[in-house]
Amino acid sequence: MSMSEKKHLRLPEWMKMKSRLPKDGRYTEVRRLLEENQLHTICTSGNCPNIGECWSAGTATFMILGEICTRSCKFCGVKTGKPLEVDIEEPARVAKSIKMMGILHAVITSVDRDDLEDRGTTLWVQTIEEIKRINPGVTMETLIPDFDGKPHLIERIIKAGPEVISHNLETVKRLSKGVRSKARYELSLDVIRQVSISKIVSKSGIMLGLGETSEEILETMDDLLEVGCQVFTIGQYMQPTRDHMPVDEWITPEQFEEYRKIGLAKGFRHVESHPLVRSSYHAEKHIK
Ligand code: SF4
Repeated sequence: MSMSEKKHLRLPEWMKMKSRLPKDGRYTEVRRLLEENQLHTICTSGNCPNIGECWSAGTATFMILGEICTRSCKFCGVKTGKPLEVDIEEPARVAKSIKMMGILHAVITSVDRDDLEDRGTTLWVQTIEEIKRINPGVTMETLIPDFDGKPHLIERIIKAGPEVISHNLETVKRLSKGVRSKARYELSLDVIRQVSISKIVSKSGIMLGLGETSEEILETMDDLLEVGCQVFTIGQYMQPTRDHMPVDEWITPEQFEEYRKIGLAKGFRHVESHPLVRSSYHAEKHIK
């Protein structure tokens, strides 16, 4: 069945509960600060359902290196195309906003920059260093792309010393090729292995509802544990636009809870598993 022929499933009740956004308070303050500093977040670019909760609590996931990604994964709502020039002032603006928002644990991610020789790692390192410089005591998670699997580029992030480095598998092995535009399952496992060896907390996540089987989810857990992954997140895939992959199935909260228990029993140190979980949800709990 082609993507356009597939039926569009109705949103179940448990996915609707957070859809109303606050009209005042900390939520609007966070939005104002982000707009004033021309900063991008995966919260808005990824149409995250938790935005009301997270922004009201004063947390957000900053997306650096612009808002246009060089890849075009079938699940992702981030814009795709030819990115703008790297903005060398961005690290300072991100660091300043973290201070003004009073964030204690910052989560940073980026678009893929396959157009750049260094895949954007120079700006990544500058951002981490600037956050540390003006926010002593603030801890950090960096949700990184695969940097084309180049170990020396991943090493630059490790050396910069964030507390947590995450890299998402996004889906099970069989579906990877169709869901992710360029990234490969095995290469992503290599990225996570390199982080695990460094002793920085390693983290990864997948989305459910893309057509995977229970056995494949459990195999993915085993593959991640094999490369030393410590923290695992599982959430429900939501179709960003009608041009993206349709949802194949809505997984119930009870099934997510079952996967959480299985993940912990298998050996992950921490598992977040709920339909509304996104990789940065409750990120402050994932530090050692
Ligand atoms: S879960 Fe992550 S992406 Fe979603 S609103 Fe919260 S911080 Fe942003």
